[in-house]
Amino acid sequence: MIGKRKRLKIYEQYNWKCQICGKTVSLETGPHEAALDHLIPRVHGGNHEESNLSLVCRSCNSRRGDNYGHLRLKNIIKRVNSALSESDLDLIEYEMRFGLIDEKDIEKTITDIQVAADQIKDLLARLLPSREVITCKKPLSE
Ligand SMILES: [Zn+2]
Repeated sequence: MIGKRKRLKIYEQYNWKCQICGKTVSLETGPHEAALDHLIPRVHGGNHEESNLSLVCRSCNSRRGDNYGHLRLKNIIKRVNSALSESDLDLIEYEMRFGLIDEKDIEKTITDIQVAADQIKDLLARLLPSREVITCKKPLSE
């Protein structure tokens, strides 16, 4: 449990501004209610030291969840990888066999995946000073 004095000290330290969205927070109940955020979440062993505490609004706090740091980044890859598995291939093959989809649909999907991947990379690259991202070009067909 974090005492009221320590809590208010942290809020003052961050000038009553959510450190994620920048909105001014207050002690009043609502989406912009002040919340103490554990930088390393409690479930991952984070402590109540001031160095592990920050000020965020309630809605950003729930958005952040128990995810943090490299875990959050790894989850992006996990979500991308779970979009298609080996076992989905036989379903697609089955539907192709019965003419529900054809090779053109597959080619369009491959293009769309590339566009979606580029969008994800561009979003992440906003956080880099150079704002550059290495794009994987489709290999030349042999
Ligand atoms: Zn916020």
